[in-house]
Amino acid sequence: MELQAIYQTLGVSPGVYRYGEAALQRLRDRFADIDRVAEYNQAKVLHAMQQNRVNATHFAATTGYGYDDQGRDNLERVYAGVFHTEAALVRPQITCGTHALTVALSANLLPGDELLSPVGAPYDTLEEVIGIRPGKCSLREYGVTYAQADLLPDGGFDYAAIRSKLNDRTKLVTIQRSKGYATRPSFSVEQIGELTAFCKSLKPDVKVMVDNCYGEFVETREPSDLGADMVVGSLIKNPGGGLAPIGGYICGTKECVERCAYRLSAPGLGQEVGANLGLMPAFYQGLFLAPTVTAGALKGAVFAANLYEALGFSCVPNASEDRHDIIQAVTLGSREAMLAFCRGIQAAAPVDSYVTPEPWAMPGYDSEVVMAAGAFVQGSSIELSADGPIRPPYAVYFQGGLTWQHAKVGILMSLQKLVEAGLVKLPD
Ligand SMILES: *Cc1c(COP(=O)(O)O)cnc(C)c1O
Repeated sequence: MELQAIYQTLGVSPGVYRYGEAALQRLRDRFADIDRVAEYNQAKVLHAMQQNRVNATHFAATTGYGYDDQGRDNLERVYAGVFHTEAALVRPQITCGTHALTVALSANLLPGDELLSPVGAPYDTLEEVIGIRPGKCSLREYGVTYAQADLLPDGGFDYAAIRSKLNDRTKLVTIQRSKGYATRPSFSVEQIGELTAFCKSLKPDVKVMVDNCYGEFVETREPSDLGADMVVGSLIKNPGGGLAPIGGYICGTKECVERCAYRLSAPGLGQEVGANLGLMPAFYQGLFLAPTVTAGALKGAVFAANLYEALGFSCVPNASEDRHDIIQAVTLGSREAMLAFCRGIQAAAPVDSYVTPEPWAMPGYDSEVVMAAGAFVQGSSIELSADGPIRPPYAVYFQGGLTWQHAKVGILMSLQKLVEAGLVKLPD
């Protein structure tokens, strides 16, 4: 009763609250499984920090060139420890996930090489990076070609197509773990491992890069545990734990990561330069919190799927499927419903709760996008957020929540707004 009353002060009606509680009753076992993965990953991160003797000197700020930056260098060893790779590049100078992926691709592809995506079209922003859509300074402009094998209608890998596309010039294979703005399934680490092994069986020296955005710490293993040469992601998603205010990471073989460092800074300089600007406490502590923050976000995603599927909306993943990333797609079927959903997420935020999300033509995306986010770190999507391109099937992509409790408020508020707009009627 007390909870229902405090939720009412946030704008959640008793009916919506009770509907949510009923859905939650069915999720105890799922949540226990998520907690077990978090427990494993917490130990994994802790072990990497202990092995690398993290201490207070690693939190010191550096400026200028950043030569001999102990905190930065050790953080990279910790990341390599967590992802079980030879090397890592973890920098505030990597501005976002797209930048990290761009560095990894352009460092490891030379004119005449071909890039292959065996999992269909990549994330929207990579289209201009690769040159699928014309873009200045794209890989295509530098003479790197691109090939793609689409997924089978059931979302599985089309091994025959991959075999036919992989050729003498194929230098690098890019595998996107998370669905991004598509309604295909996200891939498990196991599936990515199988695909990696298949590509390497056809061409042993081909490099495999995994776009690991939103997948970190969702399972106990990462794609680098199963043969990927590089795993790449953003620090304002899972591995920053909500505390990193900027940054990206590339973990992988020494050979690949070294090239990334030369691409990011300059040939000859590589990993030696790049001051940490006082961000080390946030990077270390964020990584430390990342397994449990990711678990909270996952619980939110599972809760949302259960709530919305029961109301007749198609959800990817569905209410009972295993999870491979923190994203929940809910197909709402109309522009109005997308806007109502996003208004609810926005209204539930700790920051900017009073603003109304409006669709806009966001750079890097080819249709209007609506975004709800009231985050401590601008654009952070490990914080509770929802977004989606305004185009059929009008799916909203929901993710994040620094705590499960906040994710729950957000989801209930999204439903509240749909109910208030007359777009959803709760069963009596
Ligand atoms: C978020 C994301 C990116 C790009 O990251 P930004 O930080 O937004 O540039 C790339 N791939 C996937 C799958 C993502 O989810």
